[in-house]
Amino acid sequence: MVRKILLNYSLERIKEPILSAVIKETGLAFNILYAEFGARGGEILLSIDAPDAEVEQAIELFKRRGVEVKEIKRAIHLDRDSCIDCGACLSLCPSGALYQDRDNTVLLDEDKCVYCELCVPACPVKALELSKF
Ligand code: SF4
Ligand code: SF4
Repeated sequence: MVRKILLNYSLERIKEPILSAVIKETGLAFNILYAEFGARGGEILLSIDAPDAEVEQAIELFKRRGVEVKEIKRAIHLDRDSCIDCGACLSLCPSGALYQDRDNTVLLDEDKCVYCELCVPACPVKALELSKF
């Protein structure tokens, strides 16, 4: 199962190569879905496709290095029965999670979703729904 982990860095921690150290120590491949850094610190949203025990080990290593870790328990659902393939959501999606196949059918790759929620209100038939669990 792909798990999504949000890392919160304080200003002091940003300067340290924590992400590369955890990658080296665990051997895991992280997919960075989103990263933002500012005057007060930064955050990185990671997607990790690995057995639970290995993900837990990575979480522990981030915490030990002073990074706050929060698991994102959200899901976005595309109701293909309601969708009319109007494409209104496509240009809004910053991560490419919403895309068109060769027949112009709109599909969702949830592993790429960064849960920005921009698509949900844009859909004229309410085919997109965000749930939290
Ligand atoms: S919430 Fe919608 S617009 Fe945002 S990344 Fe996910 S699918 Fe794309
Ligand atoms: S906006 Fe709604 S109806 Fe239009 S393509 Fe996206 S999901 Fe389908």
